[in-house]
Amino acid sequence: MIDLHTHSIFSDGTDRPEALVRAAADLELTALALTDHDTLDGLDCFMAMQPCTGTLLVPGIELSCTFMGRPLHLLGLFLDFLDARLRHRVEAQRLRRRSRNQAMVERLRARSVPITWDEVAMEAPTDLVSRTHFARVLVRNGAAGSPEDAYRRLIGDDCPCYVPFPELTPAEGAAWIREAGGVAVVAHPGRGFPRGFRWDQAMLDLKAQGVQGFEAYYPDYGPQEQAYFLRLAGTLGMAASGGSDHHGERRGGRALGRGAPDDLLPALQALRPA
Ligand code: AMP
Ligand code: MN
Ligand code: MN
Ligand code: MN
Repeated sequence: MIDLHTHSIFSDGTDRPEALVRAAADLELTALALTDHDTLDGLDCFMAMQPCTGTLLVPGIELSCTFMGRPLHLLGLFLDFLDARLRHRVEAQRLRRRSRNQAMVERLRARSVPITWDEVAMEAPTDLVSRTHFARVLVRNGAAGSPEDAYRRLIGDDCPCYVPFPELTPAEGAAWIREAGGVAVVAHPGRGFPRGFRWDQAMLDLKAQGVQGFEAYYPDYGPQEQAYFLRLAGTLGMAASGGSDHHGERRGGRALGRGAPDDLLPALQALRPA
């Protein structure tokens, strides 16, 4: 089994990459990728574990992109994670997100909504702060009845306190990944998009933008969805990947190692730039 989509930075902030590597060894995984959201921070520690394990450790990232107005997550696998240009790009995007978050706090406060920057920052386990964390603080402070209410009235895309920031296109994300020696695959296609979305057409577009494959194995998929994406990969000449999207041991989390068969690995590795 391989698991090419996992996270080491969790909502409780406790688990570390070492724990992930040990758990993968217990499961006798052939390969394990660490793909935290929009950060390379865990990878030094993760890759330092390679001599201590028989599992192939794959340095990765999960980049937040926007495609057709919806969030699309792009996994970068086999990254040269020390690449200076990649590190600079990821850091610059982090700063853009941070400024937009601070601008959103100011807009909310200007409308007398009770929220502070420190509260929002504290809500996030890492320095990656998103509207999910805003929503939780707004509910806790009584400014919204539920997260849905917060998105509807305060922080949704059409709301006055929403501040957009330049999100990555799949073409940019794929270039960042491939220029750092990596392979770019779409994470969990199907999630975040409407039922009946034409993934066959979308993948052709994404392939033209430099995306090389997509997850055909994902714990939330039913057998039909998995079969559909596996077949689509074959039809389009794109690589199939798969992983658990494990986020730690919190209740209800996705189990590590519910990944994909070993035989996907050579095709993915072969897509690395020469
Ligand atoms: P951000 O990247 O900070 O703009 O936050 C995007 C995240 O906010 C998405 O991944 C969703 O988790 C959440 N989000 C944004 N709009 C909505 C919405 N209308 N309903 C539910 N969640 C939303
Ligand atoms: Mn994701
Ligand atoms: Mn993920
Ligand atoms: Mn996730």
